[in-house]
Amino acid sequence: MQNFRYIDKVATLSLDRESCIGCGSCVTVCPHRIFTVTERKAVIEDHDACMECGACAKNCPVEAISVTPGVGCAAEIIARWVNGFTGRKIMPGCC
Ligand code: SF4
Ligand code: SF4
Repeated sequence: MQNFRYIDKVATLSLDRESCIGCGSCVTVCPHRIFTVTERKAVIEDHDACMECGACAKNCPVEAISVTPGVGCAAEIIARWVNGFTGRKIMPGCC
């Protein structure tokens, strides 16, 4: 999903670098490769590619990441988008 783009400058993703311990969990779980870790601190490399799934925030051991709705599931976010576009009520089926 490297070419995926959200709407510019609206994603609610934020990072408290002071709290970050550089564990790399956010790098591992993010489906859009938003983060890198440099000098033991996470860096948001591509803010506008964030889909606000919340997997990073749910897996951060020190709560350094904030994102809304941040449900922790990319499939849930995609289902919400599809429902919004189509008026249907599909469920992600995985959680
Ligand atoms: S909310 Fe989802 S897409 Fe956005 S940075 Fe976190 S894991 Fe990546
Ligand atoms: S998961 Fe949290 S503590 Fe770990 S690198 Fe990412 S922001 Fe830092």
